[in-house]
Amino acid sequence: MIESDTICAISTPPGCGGIAVVRISGENAIGIAGRIWKGKALSNVRARTSTLGDIVDPATGDTTDTALAMVMHAPHSFTGEDTVEFSVHGSTWIQSEILRLLIDCGCRMAQPGEFTRRAFASGKMDLAQAEAVADVIASTSKESHRIAAQQMRGGISRRLGELRSQLLDLSALLELELDFSEEDVEFASRTRLLDIAHNVKKEVATLAASFSKGKAIKEGIPVAIVGNTNAGKSTLINALLEDDRAIVSDIPGTTRDTIEDTVRIDGMEFRLVDTAGIRTTDDTIEALGIERSLKALRQARIAIAVIDTTTHPDDTGQILRRVEQEKSDDTLIVVALNKCDSGTAAPHRLAVQSMTPNARIIELSALHGSGVDTLRQQLLELADRPALNDIVVSNARHYEALTLAMESITHVIDGLSADLSGVLIAEDLRQTLHHLGEITGDITTPEILSTIFSRFCIGK
Ligand code: GDP
Repeated sequence: MIESDTICAISTPPGCGGIAVVRISGENAIGIAGRIWKGKALSNVRARTSTLGDIVDPATGDTTDTALAMVMHAPHSFTGEDTVEFSVHGSTWIQSEILRLLIDCGCRMAQPGEFTRRAFASGKMDLAQAEAVADVIASTSKESHRIAAQQMRGGISRRLGELRSQLLDLSALLELELDFSEEDVEFASRTRLLDIAHNVKKEVATLAASFSKGKAIKEGIPVAIVGNTNAGKSTLINALLEDDRAIVSDIPGTTRDTIEDTVRIDGMEFRLVDTAGIRTTDDTIEALGIERSLKALRQARIAIAVIDTTTHPDDTGQILRRVEQEKSDDTLIVVALNKCDSGTAAPHRLAVQSMTPNARIIELSALHGSGVDTLRQQLLELADRPALNDIVVSNARHYEALTLAMESITHVIDGLSADLSGVLIAEDLRQTLHHLGEITGDITTPEILSTIFSRFCIGK
């Protein structure tokens, strides 16, 4: 469905910036924008070049602002429609006044994500690419930008296109088999069909499995900093952050809540969660904090167990046992033997090694900074950065569709292995195609589109 009315919105963030960009898109974009423009006629402005002029209220003749206008002609624009962009001074009054003038002249305010939705509707990009536009805009690190940009340029779509064509081959071979079933002619052995189905399943499984990493990269890799009160957790976070965000104090139990901050290491973003010490306590507020710490630990991809090497090594065994008990199966642990400036790390190293011989152990001094770079390197290694050409799924909707596609292709495989009739297998095959098609938007409904684009902001 291609909407033909003309929409407008401010595409720069809300508030007052140096400049603001007003975007107008639709069949009448150039005509409507022209009615509030005094300068070179917009229909004569060379595409994608700027021209200087005034924004004028056609009713009163008052000048609202001096601005630059850029014109893009369909289909050579982001939306695929005629588009005009005014770069105006950032005043919030100017912004709202220009929107008022445009609406008076026949524009409609754009809905959230409507520019991108139009780009999808006019075939400029598929749905997975359109969703990636939002991810590119929201990306906060080199790596989260890389996976979003790869998706926006069609990385996932191409891979799904290949799978789709393999499934269509499979479907054609099954149909041939059905057409000639009376004549007892075998067009493709079931082994060949099984090979194709297995291959598709493997690829779908790889894409689905990349989601947990993709999600972590997109949102920042969750790292829980756990350990006894006073072990130096806040000091360590500050060392990693190189600022004083967390509260540092030598009164046990100061960090009562979880504090979250992000640190970027070589283009990867880590979400550090400073947790309350996980000791037993009668203080109800502190107990709440401890409960939250345990939750953070369960959700973390990496846990840094901070050990106070100035305490008795028995404490170290206790804290590690607690961490092992409470963490999720996928959480990777790094043991940070802190306060090694005190020279008392050795017995703690032995205590850790006797419990978990393969533990990753780093000796450091959060206070003085030694060993902190080694910890940064360790975090990078554990984050397991995807290879440059790996396709990484980071969108929950795609993951869900891939999981459903996995189920139906598994039924296809079961059917082929059990020598079921092609008619029965064909339905599961259609389901697999359906679920993969949902990702790229080959199969979609207005409701799905509304849900997806309503998460965008107005102006995107
Ligand atoms: P938390 O309760 O685990 O967050 O511990 P803090 O970060 O608040 O630190 C508790 C105390 O240990 C503070 O007095 C810190 O200055 C001190 N501390 C932290 N790291 C080190 C270190 O590497 N060496 C020494 N000597 N003291 C440290």
